[in-house]
Amino acid sequence: MTYDIAIVGGGPGGYTAAEEAAARGCSVVLFERDLVGGTCLNRGCIPTKALLHDAAPGASFEAIHTRKQAVVAQLREGIERLLKQRKVAVVRGRATITAPGVVECDGKAYEARDIVVATGSLPATIPVPGIDLPGVYTSNDLLEGEGVPLSSIAIIGGGVIGVEFATMYAQLGAQVTVLEATPRILPPLDREIAQRVSMHLKKRGVTVEASARVSGIEGEPGALQVRYADRRGNERVVEAEGVLVACGRRANTEGLFSTEARLELSRGALVCDEAGRTSVEHLWAIGDVVAGNIQLAHVAEAQGRNVVASICGDEPAVEMRVVPSCVYTSPEVASVGITEDEARARGIAVRTGKALTGANGKCLVEESESGYVKLVADAETGAILGAQLVCPRATDLVAELALAISLGCTTAQLARVIHPHPTVSELVSSAARALAR
Ligand code: NAD
Repeated sequence: MTYDIAIVGGGPGGYTAAEEAAARGCSVVLFERDLVGGTCLNRGCIPTKALLHDAAPGASFEAIHTRKQAVVAQLREGIERLLKQRKVAVVRGRATITAPGVVECDGKAYEARDIVVATGSLPATIPVPGIDLPGVYTSNDLLEGEGVPLSSIAIIGGGVIGVEFATMYAQLGAQVTVLEATPRILPPLDREIAQRVSMHLKKRGVTVEASARVSGIEGEPGALQVRYADRRGNERVVEAEGVLVACGRRANTEGLFSTEARLELSRGALVCDEAGRTSVEHLWAIGDVVAGNIQLAHVAEAQGRNVVASICGDEPAVEMRVVPSCVYTSPEVASVGITEDEARARGIAVRTGKALTGANGKCLVEESESGYVKLVADAETGAILGAQLVCPRATDLVAELALAISLGCTTAQLARVIHPHPTVSELVSSAARALAR
């Protein structure tokens, strides 16, 4: 039989596309070489959040990893059930795209009118001596099975993965050092957020070294030394039981295409147009495997819905202009739209309004660490253009602000909405009122 759509990769992009396509009445085959759920469910978003939720000084390392496994298994069973209900044919094995409309897996060829590549990404490595030593891990290794208990850890890379693992290991009482190459951690986020997160990490005993140039790793598991030059150029060494390399992720396309496919790639990632079309007709791509994509599960999911709409000749179902991003530190961090610095760089005149956690009843009751909600609004129209949050449940609150930006809401309109008391969400209305005056 010829399927309407073949999807390679069963992560959030792939399984969402499969579900969407099946719901629209398409016949769908989904190839997955490992476990459905992809990085997000099996080695990323979900396991890290389960661990962050349970990690506390004195917590049993084994117990928190056992619960993590249970959460992951429950969600995975849910996805498998849904795919079955939707009659998606799930083929287990490593798939290769051998010709337009043909996917091979375990010696069998499957034909499809359209193919969607959703193979995601893999942890990137860095070219320094000792990077392959035992005891040097990726986030995959630390999330696998029972995890890796460490009393000290050096983390190379102060991006999202770096700070989330720093938070988790520090919560478990480990000695943590973060070595970040650029002048500040979380480089794409607002400067003030990076300062706050650094401050909170330091308060938990984490050493944060920005502008650190790692030159090599030596030693053996349990006693590794990471050599680096600090911001002043002085040679330094940090000793740790284990090292985590968290320096970004690279597109997973190795061995995916046979030589016949003439595809435009950029550093191994697929070059696509906005709809997800590659340079080969009827071959589409979504998620982390796409060149220049924001590597987030919710972006892959949205693209999964949109690519199926495009294949079916419909308009995109999800607006891709407004993409919230979240970091699960303590307190949480979230951001959507543009920052004050970005507005300035683009020549947009803006006003900003801020509400501090210190004046919020719920934050005080919960003894939350200091933070804020900041809104960035067009100086002339009052339209909300961006929001940055450092506060409890920031990752949930940001959804309201994504909606506000998406609908072109002004600060005056947001200020008119009653927010329940006492809640952290009152920070949003306070910040809006500060601007609406
Ligand atoms: P990242 O791009 O967020 O951060 C990598 C960091 O490593 C950067 O700060 C970079 O400057 C630094 N770096 C690069 N080379 C270095 C070197 N040689 N020495 C020291 N520092 C170096 O990547 P990540 O943290 O690996 O995460 C990968 C992807 O997964 C990102 O796109 C991220 O957004 C996503 N992710 C998202 C979440 C979330 O949404 N909560 C959580 C984890 C990961």
